[in-house]
Amino acid sequence: MHETNIGYINQIITTVQGEGNYVGYPVILIRFNGCNLHCSMCDSKYTWTSNNKTNYLSFDEIETRINNHITQYPNIKHIMITGGEPFYQPELLTFIIARYYKLFHIQIETNGYKIHKFNFEVLQNKNIQLNISPKLELNSYSFNTNIDSILTSFYKLYIKLKDYNIPYIFKIVYCKEWEKDILSFYRFININNDMFSNFWMMPLTPDYSDEEFNVKYKQSCFNTITFCKQYGFKYSPRIHVDLFKNDKWENCLRK
Ligand code: SF4
Repeated sequence: MHETNIGYINQIITTVQGEGNYVGYPVILIRFNGCNLHCSMCDSKYTWTSNNKTNYLSFDEIETRINNHITQYPNIKHIMITGGEPFYQPELLTFIIARYYKLFHIQIETNGYKIHKFNFEVLQNKNIQLNISPKLELNSYSFNTNIDSILTSFYKLYIKLKDYNIPYIFKIVYCKEWEKDILSFYRFININNDMFSNFWMMPLTPDYSDEEFNVKYKQSCFNTITFCKQYGFKYSPRIHVDLFKNDKWENCLRK
């Protein structure tokens, strides 16, 4: 089988969007395997290492599985592509967009790092929104980089999004220790003072195995709300964390 006609998929399920400006909308969720980063606080580490020669699907099989969900839930009008990092498999991403953009609103969840190298004509003039969650911690990057390089990459992305007129939001995970970096990022990117409405803050999820998870998560939510009140950012809930924690199969209510 030709490499470009296979994809590494972790999940295809139906659920609701848990974050951002489309929170609560029912979606067909397509989770890609593989990511260009390895963040310590990643809540989908199970997508990192599962690309191997035995777990791929052909594009045709992926399409069939998506279509099965469409048949079962014909009233769902949104597709959410997540990961891992969807732009890590550009051919598969391009294939799914081409197949479904005329019938669905498509949201692509991405860490946004260096995705400006993707052919943005694929995204242009389609019913697509990018949900960008930048990682500002240097230890998320397993290769040599620095904050200037990361900020420059996001600035190039911002310019490209504007040039191609592609809708987007930034969904930023908040915790107190990152506050300075978040504000630096916001001020750097928001150079034209035109991005305020695109920024959403989300609470950091504690380690799921932590016995005090509930207490720590509640505190994290309160801290994020305090930050939002101070700077006027919008707060985004994380429905999947509230309801399902890390049970990715419960996330679809077993159907
Ligand atoms: S970018 Fe997202 S999926 Fe990739 S390692 Fe970081 S948190 Fe996990």
